[in-house]
Amino acid sequence: MTPVAARKRTAKPKPVPCGPCNGTGQTTETVYAGRGARRRPVAEQEATCLDCLGTGATPA
Ligand SMILES: [Zn+2]
Repeated sequence: MTPVAARKRTAKPKPVPCGPCNGTGQTTETVYAGRGARRRPVAEQEATCLDCLGTGATPA
């Protein structure tokens, strides 16, 4: 028999990556210009994810 230390594993709650930002804490927003049918994307900008406020993890 091999003595194996029976270790109790502490089940740590895994941080769930935030969905909208994929855990990065940053989202890319598309900046639009124009109105109605002329509305078109002109640029993308980084913005802090509003779901996790930049932490990248979904708040419990
Ligand atoms: Zn997020």
